[in-house]
Amino acid sequence: MTDSVQHVTLDQAIANALAGIHAQAWNGGGLYSQVLVTIDGVVNLDETNGYCTPIKAAGSGGQNTFLVPNTDDARLSQTDSEVASLQDAWDWIIHELPNHHPQPRGIWVVLVGNIGPCDSCKIRIANFRTMLKQRYPAPCVVAVEVVYDQANGSANPATRGNGIATTYGYNNLTPRQLPGPSVWRTVIT
Ligand SMILES: [Zn+2]
Repeated sequence: MTDSVQHVTLDQAIANALAGIHAQAWNGGGLYSQVLVTIDGVVNLDETNGYCTPIKAAGSGGQNTFLVPNTDDARLSQTDSEVASLQDAWDWIIHELPNHHPQPRGIWVVLVGNIGPCDSCKIRIANFRTMLKQRYPAPCVVAVEVVYDQANGSANPATRGNGIATTYGYNNLTPRQLPGPSVWRTVIT
């Protein structure tokens, strides 16, 4: 019972994040993202019991903690908003979380965006999860979920820069319903 109540609350928090993102990312403004961090199954983003990054705009990234830019796609995507939002969440988890929760039992990270992550950001997300698991090994339960609501399917092939191919989003996801929008949603394992 408690789990279902909290799950509705997380869904509402994700719906709120998407609404805020779409309020900024209007009119073809690119990929905006925001990361929610919940601790021990409690959806409280007050910066003590959990955290919510600012909404990061397209082009706001710059630090390469999660992927060495050794391919064209990785280089082209260095300023993607996920670079900034993942870094901001990581900084809170590493520097602030230990002050408030020295031994968390669970860390659930949700990356929310108006467009699915490109191929290089998918690698960044996987590497973020790996680093988080190393920092907080079992019995702490760590998960990274990605939620977005782009049109035309869960995975959209595209080219950018000088014809470099990438795919936005994950293949073969089933639409899921939040309070309000229908979204693509996957937990990275
Ligand atoms: Zn990207």
